[in-house]
Amino acid sequence: MDRFEGVDVLLTGAGSGIGRATAVRLVAEGAAVFAVDLSGDGLRETAAVATGPGRIVTHVADVSDESAVVEAVGAAAAELGGIDALINVAGIHRTTPIDRLTVADMQQLFTVNAVGTALFCREALRHLPDGTGVIVNVASSSAAHGNPYMSAYSASKGAVLAFSLSLAAEVVHRGIRVVPVSPGTVATPLVGPHVLPPELDASYYGRIRSLLGAAEPEQIAGVIAFAASRDGSYLTGAEIRVDGGSHI
Ligand code: NAD
Repeated sequence: MDRFEGVDVLLTGAGSGIGRATAVRLVAEGAAVFAVDLSGDGLRETAAVATGPGRIVTHVADVSDESAVVEAVGAAAAELGGIDALINVAGIHRTTPIDRLTVADMQQLFTVNAVGTALFCREALRHLPDGTGVIVNVASSSAAHGNPYMSAYSASKGAVLAFSLSLAAEVVHRGIRVVPVSPGTVATPLVGPHVLPPELDASYYGRIRSLLGAAEPEQIAGVIAFAASRDGSYLTGAEIRVDGGSHI
């Protein structure tokens, strides 16, 4: 398990769920991880469980704050001595039945999910090495499949997916890969009963539920690690959908 030995990784959303599981996986495989999140408490918990042989450094930042992103990427490059891989996991969810959709919801979702991802890509691309650099952006299966009451979230994730595909085409001449990973339902604090309150008709979701049940964050982290590793070296500009066959 030394696939990431000597590999410097900048990871956002590392304070919970899929991001935490990714940090644990990468550190276990030898990576030096610069872990960013809005939550200092979350990062402390992650650092406590992400034990060697690699190492983890934590940094509190809001991915939707441009100056904070510039500072975080600069700090990552200085602390790690470079950045080999960027993994954008940070994200938020909002349930937005169309009659209750607000401009604030739309702006918040797009600013964190899409703009935050784009800013980290812009800044990290100043450091990623030609030939081996890689970006993994976590989108969502909802970017390409209908999910009632989640049109605003889905649109923000559609933006992440489209952004990643065009960026892949733009940086392929540098030998840098960009891989969007789209999970289905994953058991994390992002989802739960609060996502579909009882007054909403959730029957549609019964028809698209994976027979494998919700994924554990580690099952997504394994795919992210594959995409970011040299095992994924011919993978770029192609979405990896990890939804347990919800749409077979
Ligand atoms: P989570 O809530 O457990 O973790 C999200 C992390 O992002 C948290 O630690 C949070 O503090 C951080 N974050 C949120 N806003 C931030 C900001 N502005 N700046 C910095 N950090 C911020 O959720 P998760 O399920 O692990 O989600 C991770 C990613 O996976 C998200 O992008 C989410 O949209 C995506 N996703 C999740 C699911 C699912 O079912 N859980 C499905 C598809 C896609």
